[in-house]
Parts: sequence; structure tokens; C-alpha cells
Amino acid sequence: MSNGIRFLLEKAEKQSWPELVDTARNSTMVCKHHNEPLLLFDPSTQRPLCRRCTTAFEVQQQVGLMRYCRRHLSGYHRYCAMCENDKTRREVPVPAISASTAVELEQEGAVLVDVRRTKHVRGDFEGSRELKYTDILDARNGKLVDFLATIDPSAAMVLFDDDGEGRSYGAAGELVMRYGMENRVYVVQGGITELRSDFPGRYQEVA
Ligand SMILES: [Zn+2]
Ligand SMILES: [Zn+2]
Repeated sequence: MSNGIRFLLEKAEKQSWPELVDTARNSTMVCKHHNEPLLLFDPSTQRPLCRRCTTAFEVQQQVGLMRYCRRHLSGYHRYCAMCENDKTRREVPVPAISASTAVELEQEGAVLVDVRRTKHVRGDFEGSRELKYTDILDARNGKLVDFLATIDPSAAMVLFDDDGEGRSYGAAGELVMRYGMENRVYVVQGGITELRSDFPGRYQEVA
């Protein structure tokens, strides 16, 4: 889209570009049945819902609903991991390394950290420690500080999530920005999926 066309559209609609983008997005993000905006997400059926969709739900089902990220078309609880990732990636470059480099660093004293919250890949990677993405983002719950107190202050942290996309970058960005961990934080490309395929012996299925 050229700047000229963008300017003409803004002028014709008397809206700024971000507003126009929002309007366009919102017009397609409407419930077919109730003509209301899709704002909620049902994790059990993986479907976006409008508020009226949920009126027939039982209390149990209502409680389990997530918020719906209209940008990434997925559900979230407190923060959309992919939105956080977009924000962070723009500001803070975090080195991505292969699964085999991750294990080499581990042998030199780095800590492998599993930041997954929803484990799409079931199972754990032996020897890794768990510190959820949301625990890194929400410092008030104290888990991050507790965790950092247990590791060597100069040790590198190698973070992984399910696929090496959203959460590990978001979490790494937090550690660099807020905790000054430049040169100490890495993200495993491909996440646990890659670790499992390169080191199957360390992958433990969880019942
Ligand atoms: Zn609806
Ligand atoms: Zn999002």
C-alpha cells in the first residue's frame, strides 16, 4: 500500500490509518449468528464466540472461556503471547539457537527453561526446569525471583516453548529488558519439538 493511497483513504473516511485497520478487522470479526463482535474463545471447541453465544452456557463452561485475540485469532487468558512476542521482537533482538547448541550451552552451565503454559506437545524435556511464560511476565507472583535465586547469577538461560515462536521470545525479551540479561538469554528454535527430535532419549511422555 503506497503512502498516497493511504492518505487518500484516511481523508475520505476521516479516520487515521490504525482506526481504519481496526474498523476493517472488526467488520469481519462478527458472530454470524448474533451479529455481535467476537470477543471470547472456547478452548474446548477452539471457537471464537460473541457474548450472546455464551448465554446458553452453563456456569462451568462460562468460567473456562478465554479472551479472543482478534489479531492472532486465538484464545488467551491474561495476555496474548503472540501480541507480547510481536511487541518484544520489535524492540529486543534475542538470539535463537538450535536444539543441539542449546544442549552444548547446557553442558557449559546454562539452564534449560521450559516456559510453556499450555503444553501442546505433551511431555517434558529431562533436565529442564519449568518457569512459565506468565510467571516471567507477571513479576508480582514472585516465581521469577525465586527461580533466579536458585541459579548461578552468571548462568545463561535457554528458553523453550512448544514451537519456538511466541512465548519463548516474549519471555526472553522480558528478561533482557527488565532484568538486564543481555548476552545471557537464548531461545531454542523450534522449541520442545526440536529438542525432542534431536534428543529423543531426554523426552519424557507425561501421562
Ligand atoms: Zn454469537
Ligand atoms: Zn494477539
